[in-house]
Amino acid sequence: MCRIKGTVDILANPIEYLKGVGPQRADLLKKELNIFTFKDLLELVPYRHIDKTRVNQVRDIVPQTDFIQIKGVITSFGIIGEKRAKRLVAEIKDATGTLELVWFQGITYIQKMLALGQVYLVYGKVSFFQGQPQITHPEMEVWSREKMEGKSTLEPVYPSTEKLKSRGMGGRQIGHFTETLIKLLQEKNIPEILPESILQLLQLMPRFKAFTSMHFPPDPETWQKAIDRLKFEEFFIAQLRMGLLRQQRHRYSKGVVFSQVGDIFNRFYENHLPFELTGAQKRVIKEIRRDTGSGKQMNRLLQGDVGSGKTIVALLILLLAIDNGYQGCLMAPTEILTNQHFNNISGLLKELPVNVRMLTGSTKTRERKEILQQLEDGTIHFVVGTHALLEDTVKFKNLGLAIVDEQHRFGVAQRARLWQKAAIPPHVLVMTATPIPRTLAMTAYGDLDTSIIDELPPNRKPILTVHRYETVRSQVMDFIKAEIVKGRQAYIIFPLIEESEKLDYENLMKGYENVQAYFPEPRYWISMVHGRQTPEVRTTNMQRFKTNDTQIMVGTTVIEVGVDVPNASVMVIENAEKFGLSQLHQLRGRVGRGAEKSFCILLSGSKLNNDARERLKIMCATNDGFKIAEKDLELRGPGDIEGTRQSGALNFKLASIVQDKKWLEIAREMAERLLDDDPDLASAANLQLKNYLQSLTGKTAWSKIS
Ligand code: ADP
Ligand code: MG
Repeated sequence: MCRIKGTVDILANPIEYLKGVGPQRADLLKKELNIFTFKDLLELVPYRHIDKTRVNQVRDIVPQTDFIQIKGVITSFGIIGEKRAKRLVAEIKDATGTLELVWFQGITYIQKMLALGQVYLVYGKVSFFQGQPQITHPEMEVWSREKMEGKSTLEPVYPSTEKLKSRGMGGRQIGHFTETLIKLLQEKNIPEILPESILQLLQLMPRFKAFTSMHFPPDPETWQKAIDRLKFEEFFIAQLRMGLLRQQRHRYSKGVVFSQVGDIFNRFYENHLPFELTGAQKRVIKEIRRDTGSGKQMNRLLQGDVGSGKTIVALLILLLAIDNGYQGCLMAPTEILTNQHFNNISGLLKELPVNVRMLTGSTKTRERKEILQQLEDGTIHFVVGTHALLEDTVKFKNLGLAIVDEQHRFGVAQRARLWQKAAIPPHVLVMTATPIPRTLAMTAYGDLDTSIIDELPPNRKPILTVHRYETVRSQVMDFIKAEIVKGRQAYIIFPLIEESEKLDYENLMKGYENVQAYFPEPRYWISMVHGRQTPEVRTTNMQRFKTNDTQIMVGTTVIEVGVDVPNASVMVIENAEKFGLSQLHQLRGRVGRGAEKSFCILLSGSKLNNDARERLKIMCATNDGFKIAEKDLELRGPGDIEGTRQSGALNFKLASIVQDKKWLEIAREMAERLLDDDPDLASAANLQLKNYLQSLTGKTAWSKIS
C-alpha cells in the first residue's frame, strides 16, 4: 500500500489483495487485461450491461437470442451419458414452454441442490443443441419476490479473454470483483477533482458516483450521465495539460525577435511576388509576424489543403528572418521536393541579395564542405535541405527560423534536433501536407499554435474526380491521349505497399510497359520515378516531366508530396482501392494547379470492400481536404492517421475523438477558460485539480505506464 498525505490509498493496492482474487487470478488479470491494482480494476470499463430484473419467456427464444433469464419450475433432472459425455440435464418449464439446462462440471454438487417443483430464476447464454435451445452452466437461484426487489437492475459485463474465461473470469464474473471493490470504496477514495463551477455549469455527476455508476448503474440514464462525466474528465484533463504546455511556452520560452519588416521583404513583396496573396495567406503571415515579434519562441503548425499556397508563406517568413539578421532553413522530406523548393525559391529571389543554398544527401563532398563552412560563418542566409540538415556537422551562425515542410514524414524527435542548432531555439513553423481534422489537431497537436489557410488561390478550376473499373483502362488511355494533344501532361500512379514491395514493383514495371504500348516513342515520352532509383535518376526524370520533355509520369507515391507541375491536368491512380483517403487526396492535389480543367481518375478492380467503396465515393464527392480528413478519421480511427504522434495524447480510455466530438469541444473551451482565469491553478477552487495534474506528471491520463 502506498500512503498519500496521511491517508491509505486503497486504490493503490495490488489486485491480488482483493477478496476472491488471490495470486493466481491476479497473474492472469495482469497478463490479460493489464490490471495490476485496485485502481486499474476500477477503471476497467464494462462494455455493456444486462438487465437482470427482466424475465424472459421460453417462447421468445429465437436463434439470435443471447443471454436470457427465465423463471420456471424444474420438472425433471438426471445424469445421462458416460465418461466425458457425462452430464447433468434438467428441464425447466414456464407458462410458455420448456428449456433444457446442462452441466458438465460440478454435477454431484448441483444435483443435490436441485428440487423438483421448485421455482427458480435461471440466467445464462442460450445455445442450440440439435435444434433445441439450452443453457449450459446457468446461474440458478431459488426465486422469491423479496430477492427480485433487492436486485440491482443492471449488471456489468466486462471485456475478457478466452484465457480468463477458462479460469472462471468471463465478462460477467469479473463483475464479482468490481462489486467487491465498489463495496470497499467510499467517497474519500475517489475524491472530486473538477472545480465546483464546472460541475455546476455542465451538471456533471460527482466523480465517486460516476465511477460507481459506470459499473453498477441503477438505470440506463444514470449510466449515461456517469459515462458523460468520465468522458468529459478525460478530455478536460488532456486539454488542460496541453493548454499548460502551450501557456508555459508562451510565458517562459525565449525566442529571437524579428522586430522589423525590412528592405528585402519589402522589395520582394513589391517587385517579385508572382501573384496577389489570398486573404488567408495574408492572415497567416500576420499571425506568424505577431509570434516572431513577441520575444517568445514560435512553435506553430501551418495547415492548408494541397495547393493552398504554403510555400510562398514560408518564403516570406524566411525573408523576414533574413531582414532581421538571422539565418533560416527549410527542410523537406524528399530530394525531389527539396530540389523543387530550391529551384522555385532561388528563381524568385534571383534579383535580391539573398544567398540561398541546397544541402541533401547527394550534395558532393567539396560543395558540402563549402556549405557547412558558410553556414557557420553566416555567408549563407538560407538553406533548403532534406534531413541531411539535422546532422551534427551542420552548424549555423545564428539560425532564427526553421521551417519543416510536409511534416508527417518527420518525427517529433527529429524536429527537436533543429532546436538545438542555436543558443536561443529558432522559431519553428511546421507545414502539414494534409489537413488534420480539428478534433485530432486539438488532441494530438494541442500544445502547438495553429494557423489555417482555408482558401485556395483564385481561378482554380475544381478537379473532376471519377471512379472507373480497370476493364475500361483503354478508354482512360484514350482520354489521356486527348489531353496530351491539347498540350497537357498526365500522372499515372501505382501503389507501393511495403509488405508486398516486390510484387508492387513488378506491377509498376508491367504498368509502365503497358503505358508505353499506348504511348510509343518518339511521339510520346514517359518519365518513371520510384523509390529504387538513385536520387539523381529520380531527380532527372522528375525534371524532364517538369520541363514538359516527357508528357507522362509513371510512378509510385514517391511523387506524392508537394510536387508542383502546373501543366499536368490528369492524375490516374491505379489500384486506387489500395490507397488511404489522405494519400488519394494528396495525389489528386498534384493536378489542378494551373488554370486548366483537371481530372483525377481512380482505377480499381471490380471487387471492393465497403471501406474502399466508401473512400472512392468520398473522393468523387468532394475536393475539400478538411472534409476528407474528417472522413478518414471516421473510417480509420485516430490511431492510424498519418502524422499523429504516437504519444499518450490519443490514449483515451472511454472517450473517442470521433464519437464524442461534442464533449471534446466543451472540454477544450472549459480548459481554456480555466487557464485564462487562473493560469497557475493557484486558486483554492482549483487546488484538487492541480494536485491531480501533478500526480499525473509523466504519465498519460488514466493509463498504466506501459
Ligand atoms: P502547397 O500548399 O500544397 O504547398 P504550393 O505552395 O505548392 O501549395 O502552391 C500551389 C500553387 O499555387 C503553386 O503553383 C503556387 O505558385 C500557386 N499559388 C500560391 N499562392 C497563390 C496565390 N495567392 N495566387 C495564385 N497562385 C498561387
Ligand atoms: Mg507544399
